[in-house]
Amino acid sequence: MISFDNTEFAFAYKTYKELKKAKFLFSSMGIGWLVKLGTRLTPWAIKAHFPINGLIRNTIFKQFVGGETLQETAKVADKLAQYNVQVILDYGVEGKEGEESFDYVAAEFIKVIQYAATQPNIPFMSVKLTGFARFGLLEKLDAAADNKSGVEGRINVNVLDANEKEEWQRVVNRLIKICEAAQRNNVGVLVDAEETWIQDPVDALTMQMMERFNKSKVVVYNAIQLYRHDRLQFLKDSLEEAQKKNFILGAKLVRGAYMEKERKRAAAMNYPSPILPDKESSDKDYNAAIEFCIEHLDKLFLIVASHNEYSNLYAAQLLQQKNLPLNHSHVHFSQLLGMSDNITFNLAKAGCSVSKYLPFGPLKDVIPYLMRRAQENSSVSGQTGRELQLIKKELQRRKSTA
Ligand SMILES: Cc1cc2nc3c(=O)[nH]c(=O)nc-3n(C[C@H](O)[C@H](O)[C@H](O)COP(=O)(O)OP(=O)(O)OC[C@H]3O[C@@H](n4cnc5c(N)ncnc54)[C@H](O)[C@@H]3O)c2cc1C
Repeated sequence: MISFDNTEFAFAYKTYKELKKAKFLFSSMGIGWLVKLGTRLTPWAIKAHFPINGLIRNTIFKQFVGGETLQETAKVADKLAQYNVQVILDYGVEGKEGEESFDYVAAEFIKVIQYAATQPNIPFMSVKLTGFARFGLLEKLDAAADNKSGVEGRINVNVLDANEKEEWQRVVNRLIKICEAAQRNNVGVLVDAEETWIQDPVDALTMQMMERFNKSKVVVYNAIQLYRHDRLQFLKDSLEEAQKKNFILGAKLVRGAYMEKERKRAAAMNYPSPILPDKESSDKDYNAAIEFCIEHLDKLFLIVASHNEYSNLYAAQLLQQKNLPLNHSHVHFSQLLGMSDNITFNLAKAGCSVSKYLPFGPLKDVIPYLMRRAQENSSVSGQTGRELQLIKKELQRRKSTA
């Protein structure tokens, strides 16, 4: 019987001093006004070259980021390996624009793949299409009526002018090169899901890549955001399409990271929100998606990417109920570095295939990622409360056994 209550397993990889630091950080993130102020001021202060890099590096960066370079991530990866926890490398570039930048990022992704291939516990890396494609270009493709729902892998480029068509072809070529490198090096590529108003071409291109690369094993995975009202059906349609076209589906299930932004845009532009009305509905669809995937494990690979204790437990229990091994080769679990160690390390202890999602990159480039983590962890009743409680419990346990 798996339990996520064991804090000794959860934090075995952290020293007492590191735990005290984590306690301080999560306590600070529970102070609403501080997070509000911090997330507004930090990006600006970094750009203005205020001397805050050291402070950030020693606090929030250390908690949630693997390092500034690939080599720096090795230390964290080695430590995780000691506890049978694997790594998904995430080169943390966001919001870069310009063809030169895009080529650079695509080349970096390939370097990440080559590096991962040399490491014993890095089976996956993640990519964001917006790392090497112009947001406006994706938006234009998405807006075209016949590009709705990328499930069939069709992209009508006729809405683009001649230059844009070439630009799009360069995006496609970059992703093909990344997937080819991944296939050669036996590393899985997880394509992130982003905002709904660019997601259709992302889905379509990812379906194309799966059709091309997922013939005998899974190289490419799509991310499915179950906070969207249409994604449970999308998952089912994706599998149907995969069956029709004879490829194996790779599905990373997430709830979704852009809820407020999505709702705000929908309200401002007066269209129905693509997000389910409440948390319960998101949970229901997420768990139904897990159930669907575990029902069809012979045809797909599933990644349960969540910090939700119930969802992780549910996936493990379904495997047990079906007499399938917890380390089934088509099922993987993943949580972000610095969050829900109680889930990750207890799953690993139970024998599941599990990883930490390890972002890395120059400090200034990972600031948007860090600000999202701060916001996500700022509600005392939610994630922070739970993290803090677990850290306190472990500190207490160590004190009493010292
Ligand atoms: C390994 C990994 C990879 C990820 N990759 C992606 C990705 O590619 N794209 C992406 O968008 N996100 C991604 N995420 C982030 C993820 O989508 C969630 O934001 C985050 O993990 C919180 O959800 P949860 O399942 O962990 O659990 P919980 O804490 O149980 O759920 C919180 C989530 O529930 C949903 N929710 C909360 N309140 C409501 C409400 N009122 N109505 C409807 N829904 C609500 C929101 O999605 C919120 O983030 C990833 C997360 C992990 C761990």
